[in-house]
Amino acid sequence: MSRSLPPNLSAAQFDLALASWRSIVGEPQVVTSAAGLATYLDPFAPGERAAFSASATLLPGSVDEIRAVLRVANQYRIPLWTVSTGRNFAYGGAAPRLPGSVVLDLHRMNRIIEVNETLAYALVEPGVTYFDLHAYLREHGHKLWVDPPAAGWGSVVGNTLERGFGYTAYGDHAAKQCGMEVVLANGDVLRTGMGGIEIGTAWQLYQPGYGPSFDAMFMQSNYGIVTKLGVWLMPAPPAYLLGEIQFQHEADLEAIVEILRPLRLDETIRNHVVIEGGLRRAAGLSTRAQWYEGPGAMPERAVAAMLEKLDVGRWNLHFALYGTPELIDARLAIVQRAFARVPQARFFAKRYAGNAMGDAAGNAASDAQPTAGGDRNLAGIPAMSAFRMLDWRGGAGAHVDFAPVCPATGRDALRQYTMVKTRAAEYGFDYYGGFTAGERHLHHIFAAIFDRGDANQVEQAGQLLRSLMSDARAAGYGEYRAHLAYMDFAAAQYSFNDGALLRLSETIKDALDPNGILAPGKQGIWPAAWRDRRGYT
Ligand code: ADP
Repeated sequence: MSRSLPPNLSAAQFDLALASWRSIVGEPQVVTSAAGLATYLDPFAPGERAAFSASATLLPGSVDEIRAVLRVANQYRIPLWTVSTGRNFAYGGAAPRLPGSVVLDLHRMNRIIEVNETLAYALVEPGVTYFDLHAYLREHGHKLWVDPPAAGWGSVVGNTLERGFGYTAYGDHAAKQCGMEVVLANGDVLRTGMGGIEIGTAWQLYQPGYGPSFDAMFMQSNYGIVTKLGVWLMPAPPAYLLGEIQFQHEADLEAIVEILRPLRLDETIRNHVVIEGGLRRAAGLSTRAQWYEGPGAMPERAVAAMLEKLDVGRWNLHFALYGTPELIDARLAIVQRAFARVPQARFFAKRYAGNAMGDAAGNAASDAQPTAGGDRNLAGIPAMSAFRMLDWRGGAGAHVDFAPVCPATGRDALRQYTMVKTRAAEYGFDYYGGFTAGERHLHHIFAAIFDRGDANQVEQAGQLLRSLMSDARAAGYGEYRAHLAYMDFAAAQYSFNDGALLRLSETIKDALDPNGILAPGKQGIWPAAWRDRRGYT
């Protein structure tokens, strides 16, 4: 295999840059071996894995080292791709958008700098995972919850910057972020909001600060390297209830969303409710081969038989109520009354004491703790059960996600569902998906699950994603996040006034990063130096 080089750079120049970097971060923290770099390839690539390969990886241990690394990158104009723990699976993993970029892996910077129980926040470095933070809170007896995303092994910083979400009342991670430390492309270090005050007292307490506020600018962008991030934590409730409502008919989705929206808007239900499709629910309990082994998407008859046998709904709504037992009772009565309007809806609920949070390793304190992964997430306990989906189809399981934003109306939800299910079936994929409910929008997440060992499935998954994105565009929907391969395509959907939004993003990019060294192409934002690389792939 020939050596991968940064674009437009000779091997000799690259060797000089690598020598400088070795002297900054230390020999072992510069990865150039083929085996080492292979771990930074996208494990779920919906195409050639090598299409987004890195030429090296650097693992700095401090802000000062990052600044020194940037000096060298600017000198040689070498693009860097920052990751915190690099577990952005289904969207590209740790791989860079521009092939030949050097990955800046920050996972060694993993200090939990502060946890404040009184004011309910934490300040963390990029390498801190949800498991780490959860364990720390338990070890120190803090009565605070993290809000884990579906897979708890990723970092708080990476997930928050990508606007990931979880399932408790603090499920909107970007909204619960407060205060950042950022290194700009020119090496300048800034602190946002109240962090601008030298001897700060409120960095993690008041989001705006004074004057323009910039935190959101560093989310899903390539404007800086975030080295510290504040996150608000949910006070552990005195008690909570986890509920599931199963619905029997596909078309119930419309009524479910119409009933749910007012309950989310008036905060009867405070958590990020999940409306999980039957097949996704079934995939947590079984594998596809148990139900169907023929060609194409699972036929309707097989899906119906599977749901009946497993006793799960066509749609399964997962919600949580947090608070004192009296509050929970009052809210539960409202929720039950509202959803009882849907014929054949079935209710399940389990109550827990608020201290049933387990020990530092995530083990149950008693049997009075949720056990299923999805339920654990609703109770602020990180889990890895989301990875069960990889077994659904067998082989080298992988998935790529289509993630359009859906207005929180029944009509839109049913429209997106029908659109995605029909298109997926055309390419031989099951509808594996669901909706996570904010107040005014739903995150609609569909995963095309494929066997990476099957070249035809890989190809079809890639084609399906492109078709889905075109469908979404035609219908006026946009994606909230996209895999590396589709970042330009997704950005192009935001085309009002001939793409004025992207023009602004690139104007800012050029001002902040004139040499174009930070994450060229991320979210479709290309610096002037690499603008000719824009492509829909
Ligand atoms: P995870 O927490 O899931 O491991 P990653 O580390 O893969 O997440 O980060 C996801 C994406 O977020 C990266 O591809 C990168 O674009 C961006 N990102 C992650 N960490 C940082 C950071 N510290 N500064 C700037 N951007 C970051």
